[in-house]
Amino acid sequence: MPGYNAHRIFNYVIFIAIAALALYESINPEQLLALSIGFYIGTDFLTPDLDTESTAIKRWGRLKILFLPYKWAFAHRQSSHNIVYGAVVRILYISIIMLFLYYVLFKSFPSGAVFFSAYIILFLIGIVIANALHVLLDGIF
Ligand SMILES: [Zn+2]
Repeated sequence: MPGYNAHRIFNYVIFIAIAALALYESINPEQLLALSIGFYIGTDFLTPDLDTESTAIKRWGRLKILFLPYKWAFAHRQSSHNIVYGAVVRILYISIIMLFLYYVLFKSFPSGAVFFSAYIILFLIGIVIANALHVLLDGIF
């Protein structure tokens, strides 16, 4: 099973090709930045290996406690490693936590329009691609 750094190297090498292709397809620099940030978060923090005591979960420091329910709910390398909905479930999971914190801080929810901006969508696509590459590499080894 590839370790944390093997996943990172694999993901970033592939991402160079994705970024080159995106630029070739005339994505603008701000959109590429949104995609890149999502990809970084998806590779280094919001990985499928949050379902086990992995390097990825240790990188969350004390905040790793947020993922205890996630670890209990998802057995290692089962549905968390589904190439289609694994990332979607993780994005929903962290979004609910962030919405809760937002509500606690501001006593209201953010406007729904925020979630449909092109940048947020590219950011989420970055996470989904990073997670898919993780699952593919796990599948090879
Ligand atoms: Zn994995």
